[in-house]
Amino acid sequence: MTETFDRTEPVAAPTEPVAARTEPVVARTRPDLKAARAELGDGGVAVVMTMGALHEGHSALIRRARADARHVIVTIFLNPLQFGPREDLSRYPRTVDSDMAICRREGVDLVFLPTPDVIYPDGDPGVRVSAGPLGNVLEGQARPGHFDGVLTAVGKLLHLTGADLAYYGQKDAQQLLLIRRMARDLDFPVDVVAVPTVREADGLALSSRNMYLTESDRETALCLSRALHAGAAAATEGPSAIRRAARAVLVGEPLALIDYLVLVHPSTLEDVPEWYRGEALLAVAGRVGTTRLIDNVPVNVGPGGGALEILSNTAGRDDGPPSTLGSTGPHSPLS
Ligand code: AMP
Repeated sequence: MTETFDRTEPVAAPTEPVAARTEPVVARTRPDLKAARAELGDGGVAVVMTMGALHEGHSALIRRARADARHVIVTIFLNPLQFGPREDLSRYPRTVDSDMAICRREGVDLVFLPTPDVIYPDGDPGVRVSAGPLGNVLEGQARPGHFDGVLTAVGKLLHLTGADLAYYGQKDAQQLLLIRRMARDLDFPVDVVAVPTVREADGLALSSRNMYLTESDRETALCLSRALHAGAAAATEGPSAIRRAARAVLVGEPLALIDYLVLVHPSTLEDVPEWYRGEALLAVAGRVGTTRLIDNVPVNVGPGGGALEILSNTAGRDDGPPSTLGSTGPHSPLS
């Protein structure tokens, strides 16, 4: 199964000629969204949430949503709540015209394009969704409060769009897990669907942040996906072999400042012990130039193992044996 990791995901051909597509309805305010949403009717409505600067990864989510649902809503919202004070909110790419062209091409029915004051009319909300302990590790450790900000916005957008289905990328594995947990723990009536990571032909995971990379940064950044690939290729040999193989690639690229490389249980995000067999998440984060990048590959650890496209539906508590995994404490770089 590892071959799927090496190439860009196959992109399904559009099912209708572009000329037959109607222009997406654009809603910028709550009343406009409410009116446009009412037109879509009940049942079979999907949402794809984005921060804009759309690329083929977003398109893959939209196509999957279109294949499953009657109607597709795309939200484009640069959520200030999920950016820390020293993060890149102000320089985050804004490309509304090309985002709209992609939505048009992909046959999106409704684009919700709110500004922060539409989502947070009273300013920063005093009441927020708490991501809990899973929000404090890995990305949450590097970005305190990030996942509370993500889940608060996602919860509001789920309410406002009234979607029955919501699509998220495996690329942001911890976010996907936490959204699943929120939907389950707080009884959101939505099915959360995971979509595999879309990559460039050379393995680099597509990301809006790739726009910040210089040519040489981009070359350096390839070590992330190469490390994951090397780790997944050692999947049959067990956890320490996977970590060793991935780490060997990263240490050969001193220009990438690695924040963490972990092999964790998909629902507890705890390091898996050496005896562990089954699905795990090999995840990496690091800084290349001025840009923080993340990537991951789901792996099946053990005989016949290798890279997977997505993890099974790992919403939490009942899915794994968290207490038997044991806590290894905070993740150290290259642990
Ligand atoms: P963002 O605009 O970065 O917040 O991403 C919006 C959605 O697109 C999230 O569910 C991401 O996980 C997903 N996404 C971003 N990059 C990719 C990618 N390379 N492949 C698949 N999904 C992606």
